[in-house]
Amino acid sequence: MNFLKRHKSIAVQIVGVIAIAVMFGVGLTTYLNNTQVTKTSAAEKSHQEKKIVLPASAVFGPAPVFEPPPSPPAIIRTVKAGPGDTFMKLLVKAGTDRATAHSAIRSMRKTFHPRRLKRGQEITVTLKPKSWGVKTGPFIGFSFNPSVEETIKVSRTAQDRFSVEKIKRLLDRQDVRVSGSIQSSLYVAATKAGLPASTLVDLIRLYSWDVDFQRDIQKNDKFDVMVERLHQKNGDFARWGNILYAELVLSGKSMRLFRYESKRHGVEYFDERGRSAQKALMKTPINGARLSSRYGKRRHPILGYTKMHRGIDFAAPRGTPIYAAGNGVVTYAGRKGAYGKYIRIRHNGRYATAYAHLRGFKRGIRRGRRVTQGQVIGYVGSTGRSTGPHLHYEILVNGRQINPLKLRLPSGRKLKGQELRRFAKMRERLEGRLAARKSPSKTRVTSR
Ligand SMILES: [Zn+2]
Repeated sequence: MNFLKRHKSIAVQIVGVIAIAVMFGVGLTTYLNNTQVTKTSAAEKSHQEKKIVLPASAVFGPAPVFEPPPSPPAIIRTVKAGPGDTFMKLLVKAGTDRATAHSAIRSMRKTFHPRRLKRGQEITVTLKPKSWGVKTGPFIGFSFNPSVEETIKVSRTAQDRFSVEKIKRLLDRQDVRVSGSIQSSLYVAATKAGLPASTLVDLIRLYSWDVDFQRDIQKNDKFDVMVERLHQKNGDFARWGNILYAELVLSGKSMRLFRYESKRHGVEYFDERGRSAQKALMKTPINGARLSSRYGKRRHPILGYTKMHRGIDFAAPRGTPIYAAGNGVVTYAGRKGAYGKYIRIRHNGRYATAYAHLRGFKRGIRRGRRVTQGQVIGYVGSTGRSTGPHLHYEILVNGRQINPLKLRLPSGRKLKGQELRRFAKMRERLEGRLAARKSPSKTRVTSR
């Protein structure tokens, strides 16, 4: 009984508290309403005061026009692509709704494929808020510079319509000539002479059909390169362009290459007689910029071809990209005993190449895959029976390993007739430009 009574009184107390709270709440609302009313009337007052001033100004000048309040400024946000980012992720991050972002990206596809987005790319997104103080609003457009030369601008023209513009900036070009003599390694000599790293990679690729960059480079060999340096109108450096001319002097033998562009074949390099630098197979199927030099070890039993060791080794840092030596089809990509991770490519009925001790395969490289010459297929490692990171490279003729050093591949495309004459004219022009650029090594000699 006692318990029930106490319970009852608690219930009464609760009801009482609620009643007070409701009353208090009502009071609060009324109070808030009152202050709002006061605020409004204050605004009206100042408005009226302005009106009183008006007739005076009308006497001295034209009657002022009441303009609608200015619309809030656009919100401009810059987002930067991190690892794994997509245009979709970045646009949404900047405040675009998913459906609009999707349509905007789709509309851009033909001008710039969204998959070409690179890490570090900055994208500027513009939103238009509907009222002041709002931190977001409808999407207006976005823009970015995929390179120093171009800007892609996507603008919304209607609810689900977008215009895409590609704005090109012309860069100025300048010929730069870099030459040097190799004392310890091509890499060291090229760096010392001021040859850009990207140009060195291009240079090695240019000669990779004819030169074995592990064994053919000897002390006192020379290089001479003319490359385009591109800069903006204000003189700011933009990027290094194409190699226009190159010469390698290996063991006293000069090999010159000239850049030649045609509508049908694009950019190619030819020697002075119009024979293409490109052959069916590469002698150096690797990014050779960092190959370690091994002078006088051309016939080294481990590094070179012997009856016991039926391949050629390229000692290079772990992770160095390995190229498909020629066009073909992957016939094997996997582990293979002492070879470790191994790839074999069939180029035609006669030739095949093999690559061993890889650290790993490039994504998508597997049996049956078609590859093109120079395409990255894997990376240097030390898997299988191997003493250190290197690429073991084999050339197979009718299924049997042959000595790549002895391989005489038929030369590639040969210019003839009218095309050869066109090439000769272009070569003369290039030689003129070359003469106008003193070779830096000569400059160094005279300054001494
Ligand atoms: Zn080997």
